[in-house]
Amino acid sequence: MAANPQLKTLRELHELDRSIISLRKRHEAIAPETEAVQQTVAELRKQVENLAAETKRTRTEAARGELEIKSAEANIRKLIAQQNQVKTDKEYKSLQQEIATQRADLSRMEDETLQLLARIDELEAQRKSVEKRLVEEEATAKKRCEDLEAERRKIEEELAVLAQRRTELSHRVEPDLLEKYEFILARRGETALAAVSEATGWACQACYTQLTPQMCALLVGGKIVSCQSCARILYLAE
Ligand SMILES: [Zn+2]
Repeated sequence: MAANPQLKTLRELHELDRSIISLRKRHEAIAPETEAVQQTVAELRKQVENLAAETKRTRTEAARGELEIKSAEANIRKLIAQQNQVKTDKEYKSLQQEIATQRADLSRMEDETLQLLARIDELEAQRKSVEKRLVEEEATAKKRCEDLEAERRKIEEELAVLAQRRTELSHRVEPDLLEKYEFILARRGETALAAVSEATGWACQACYTQLTPQMCALLVGGKIVSCQSCARILYLAE
């Protein structure tokens, strides 16, 4: 079996390209991952803000309720005083009716205000719980973002080294072959080359199309052969 030195270099180049592709993929994933981490924190912060705003609104409402209760109580006291001074039974009964209505209103106001006060306690408890989670998430997110940033820088350094090596290596591949390879690389990415072996029935291991006996002979003889079906450059599997 005559090993083609060009094919050997091309395989080295392809290994390098596979590393580059994989590093680039990881590099691209870092920004969205960082964003997702920050998003979690932002959502919790928003929740805290919303709870604080709702608490404030509820407090205002409860304070207004308390004022209304005081005013209703005063009004009832006034009606009772009036009732003690009326002359006729009709006036007395009319005031009695009015007092009963006002007392029913007062009772409703008291219920509503108590509900608001209970709601404030509930909101405060919720806010404290979310704030606690926020503090924890902020710490985790900070660390995670720093790690991601460090990873990004490391990948960029690695890519720079690989790019340098790629330039050196690609100069050792004949221009025509390099052009053909790069055409396939742009379309097939990590699988621009495909293995073939007798053990797998002389089929392209990327698309499983069988090679003709003539192609097999050329490949074994050390020629550059492309798959007729998928155009990948073929190499003999060890
Ligand atoms: Zn193929």
